[in-house]
Amino acid sequence: MHPAPSTPPSAMYQIPPPTAGGINEPQECPYCRRNFSCYYSLKRHFQDKHEQSDTLYVCEFCNRRYRTKNSLTTHKSLQHRGSSGMLKRLLKTTAIKNVLGSMQQAQMQQQPQ
Ligand SMILES: [Zn+2]
Ligand SMILES: [Zn+2]
Repeated sequence: MHPAPSTPPSAMYQIPPPTAGGINEPQECPYCRRNFSCYYSLKRHFQDKHEQSDTLYVCEFCNRRYRTKNSLTTHKSLQHRGSSGMLKRLLKTTAIKNVLGSMQQAQMQQQPQ
């Protein structure tokens, strides 16, 4: 159906070579003109901001896409707490309980655990 694209999307961005000064010289990102202290920093920035990776990690809760599993894991632990938002609600409830609890400390001490 679709004609084969002459240029695959992954070829749009290619990591630039280090400047003539070498990998320890300050580097400039040709895509967004940011400067980096060394090639390693530029490479990390490039992989983070510009590289189009085939492997995308998709959050099953909100369908956000991340390029690294670590980013997705961090996102989920922050946004979803490992479940479908139930824990988020629970945390809210717990916070309210804590406020109430401070007013009813005697009662709380009688509860198990
Ligand atoms: Zn850049
Ligand atoms: Zn998510």
